[in-house]
Amino acid sequence: MKILVINTGSSSLKYQLIDMTNESVLAKGLCERIGIDNSFLKHTKVGSDAVVIEKNLPNHTVAIKEVIKALVDPKIGVISDMSEIGAIGHRIVHGGEKFHSSVIIDDAVIKAIEECIQLAPLHNPPNLVGIEACKAVMPKTPMVGVFDTAFHQTMPRRAYLYALPYEIYEKYGVRKYGFHGTSHNYVAHRAADMLNRPIEELKLITCHLGNGGSVCAVEYGKSIDTSMGFTPLAGLVMGTRSGTIDPAVATFLMGKEGMSVRDMENFLNKKSGLLGISGVSSDFRDLEEAADEGNDRAKLAIEMFCYKVKKYIGEYAAIMNGVDAVVFTAGVGENSSLARKTILEGMDYLGISIDPEKNKERGREIDISAEGAKVRTLVIPTNEELAIARETLKLIKR
Ligand code: AMP
Repeated sequence: MKILVINTGSSSLKYQLIDMTNESVLAKGLCERIGIDNSFLKHTKVGSDAVVIEKNLPNHTVAIKEVIKALVDPKIGVISDMSEIGAIGHRIVHGGEKFHSSVIIDDAVIKAIEECIQLAPLHNPPNLVGIEACKAVMPKTPMVGVFDTAFHQTMPRRAYLYALPYEIYEKYGVRKYGFHGTSHNYVAHRAADMLNRPIEELKLITCHLGNGGSVCAVEYGKSIDTSMGFTPLAGLVMGTRSGTIDPAVATFLMGKEGMSVRDMENFLNKKSGLLGISGVSSDFRDLEEAADEGNDRAKLAIEMFCYKVKKYIGEYAAIMNGVDAVVFTAGVGENSSLARKTILEGMDYLGISIDPEKNKERGREIDISAEGAKVRTLVIPTNEELAIARETLKLIKR
């Protein structure tokens, strides 16, 4: 069966068509600037060069139609008819407390996702638009929703509640939800495969370090704590996000600088993090380059980033009473030997130690632990699209 994986943003739509008989990607691409001017579709038939199709894409329904057109095109396409698409898997950012796992999308599910909009006002509406667009173009094709938050629904209350008046949780659902769940879940299972041990026996710390980043304590296959919170702003120092700070800083600055709520959200989400500290870039590669050239604030940004990850590893080792493996994934985690080395330096007390030669590897699954290290350190490229396609297949086969 062929499964179309869809990830919609407010003005974008990413897709992959995956043949589940051998889990190979047949085609992938993205539509950009939907509903804005100069919109286009960039489509790649695997094994061929990417093709850019400039096309007016006033909304997501038109974008999906263009994606289907590209997929069935005799030259750049990979299927002869859209009926070959057996199911569609949608990435959905926020499932609140309603979704503990992936679900077949029906009207009740759509309503429940709508009810989560107040928790993810920027993300859930475009996700819903993507669902409606697919429904309009392929009404008979089954659809599955895979939630970023679902994997973390196993966190105990002591981990997910904030020490605010309990009524605030009851009234507004203010609590830690956690994100990147599909990725943490995927790499945790790959780690168990690599270690050749059942996941039910393992204490893992998974570090998803990309432009956004989070760390997760995965105990016996379940998320028991994670660094992101009520929103994806909490936790690590990220590309442009501050991560966790003293909340009083926000009110202090709002008073001093006359910033509105919207200004403060923008400041913490878009102007802070690696970009804010370095003044150079939000991109880790740029920072490595600038640091090499002697830029002190770029060096500081890298240090702060790594320091925060190290602290989470220590925290999660503490709450699990040990750790069997630390896993690095996403752009920085998979590729930056500097980040991995800096994060793990001086953690031999925990039994974590890496082989400097193996740590030079990047972008592929590898155990980079030093010989004899008690705790394994693994690099595992994440594959959220494949994870979504697997979930989709599992649900529609039931
Ligand atoms: P992601 O959000 O997972 O796509 O990750 C994006 C981040 O990964 C950016 O900060 C990139 O600079 C970083 N990244 C990608 N490749 C490398 C690399 N070879 N070395 C260091 N950082 C990298």
